[in-house]
Amino acid sequence: MPLRSLVSRSCCPSPVWKSLSKAAARAAGARMRAVGVLRSADNWRTRLAICRTCLLRTVSNGVSLCGPPYLRQLHRTPADGCGCRCEDKAKRPAEHCPLTIQGRPLPTPHPAACTCQWCAANAD
Ligand code: SF4
Ligand SMILES: [Zn+2]
Repeated sequence: MPLRSLVSRSCCPSPVWKSLSKAAARAAGARMRAVGVLRSADNWRTRLAICRTCLLRTVSNGVSLCGPPYLRQLHRTPADGCGCRCEDKAKRPAEHCPLTIQGRPLPTPHPAACTCQWCAANAD
């Protein structure tokens, strides 16, 4: 489906438009992190190691992604994964894995004591 037809032409941003804006902001953040302008999460290597064993991880062109590539699935729930590169996602300090250690979607609203796969590993 052409991208243009997915984006609303009304004055209010469509969910797809919001999602694309968020993805663009995340990509910009990853570039700034790569040149040292933004800091990376201290435990990003531990997070990334968890991603490497995760059933939701996909590999596209040799790159590990959280779920299917973003542009292949614009409509998705958090439990589908965001489609971001695992390394970029792991480096974002405020990021959380969308799955609990039991492989279930993380409850919403986000619990104060996070039970995501990454935070559960930190609690050990
Ligand atoms: S962020 Fe979580 S769900 Fe996504 S690939 Fe990593 S471990 Fe899996
Ligand atoms: Zn968490």
